[in-house]
Amino acid sequence: MQSVSILGSTGSIGVQALGVAAANPDRFVVRALAAHSSVERLAEQAATFRPELVVLVDAARASELAQLLVPGTELLTGVDGLVAAAEASDVVVNGVMGFAGLPATLAALDAGKRLALANKESLITAGPLVRAALATGGGEMLPVDSEHGALHQCLRAETHSGAGDGRAVARLVVTASGGPFRGRTPAELQDVTVEQALAHPTWQMGPKITIDSSTLFNKGLEVIEAHELFGIDYDRIEVVVHPQSIIHSAVEFIDGSTVAQLSRPDMRLPIGYAMGYPDRLPTPYGRIDWATLGSLDFEAPDLETFRCLALAYQAGRMGGTAPAWLNAANEVAVDAFFSGKVTWARISAIIEGTLEDYDGAGPGSVEAVMAADAEARRRAVQLVEHEGVA
Ligand code: MG
Repeated sequence: MQSVSILGSTGSIGVQALGVAAANPDRFVVRALAAHSSVERLAEQAATFRPELVVLVDAARASELAQLLVPGTELLTGVDGLVAAAEASDVVVNGVMGFAGLPATLAALDAGKRLALANKESLITAGPLVRAALATGGGEMLPVDSEHGALHQCLRAETHSGAGDGRAVARLVVTASGGPFRGRTPAELQDVTVEQALAHPTWQMGPKITIDSSTLFNKGLEVIEAHELFGIDYDRIEVVVHPQSIIHSAVEFIDGSTVAQLSRPDMRLPIGYAMGYPDRLPTPYGRIDWATLGSLDFEAPDLETFRCLALAYQAGRMGGTAPAWLNAANEVAVDAFFSGKVTWARISAIIEGTLEDYDGAGPGSVEAVMAADAEARRRAVQLVEHEGVA
């Protein structure tokens, strides 16, 4: 039996992770739940799963939540609460949204836990710090992202044969659905609405990551994530658009052989893989019916229309805290798009303008990464105000 902490439990990843835990009651017991501010939903989850610890990051609403919890349940708030939840269980699912997930990632690894990482931003903004915490804390990190879960599975066989040091890898092939705007020209994308950007063709996800998928920014983060996780340089990480989202990624080896991982798109599969590794959980998600699968298509990404992907490669190659700048600029730009301050087409321009001011600082400490994030946000906000449309 393994105890589980689910951070971001009311979000898309969190809800599905709870589904995986509930489907495997002999394997997992939910010890801690943490959410940002969804009081009612968190209270419902606590009533169902009876965790020992419940965390509400938004302290202002804690008294509301306290009245809804079973007496005896510990209730904590703020980042300290998130960190406590990250230290409370054998398996920690970090499904916190955005840069805010970093302290919990470091806390889980420092405490030697199994970290099932959905919060890719913490790895992207602070890769060297995450690697150091992994090395000194003795924990494990398994990606929850479907593409990286796929790459992990493709590389896993090589590890067993003693060739898992990357030398046998020719390139990583990261697949992308292409999002709702695949095949459109920049002119056709001038006036797209939030609603149109949220209509993802294959994946059901939270709103922020769905916007990031519409711009291919999410794929750009995933390229950096793959670089950080597997130590493969950017020249050997290729993105290919695959609209059916059946092949979740592939590894090409130096002998010309390619190994791919396939399933129907269902996030519970990569979540369960990360939670259960090295075991396979006996709950099948996304099984393929080969007789009705049909054709699988592939095409190159359009880097002119989807500038965010090219900018992510650029920031990854710049190194230092450039990925933190990239991420911060995007978080500001997407917020501004949600609130109608900028158009969809402006998102990449804000990121590009912010990156131009990157000061070359490195991610030597949490404080340095926080400072980089804050400075990049300040620049991005200026650009939003400057470029904003009525
Ligand atoms: Mg993904």
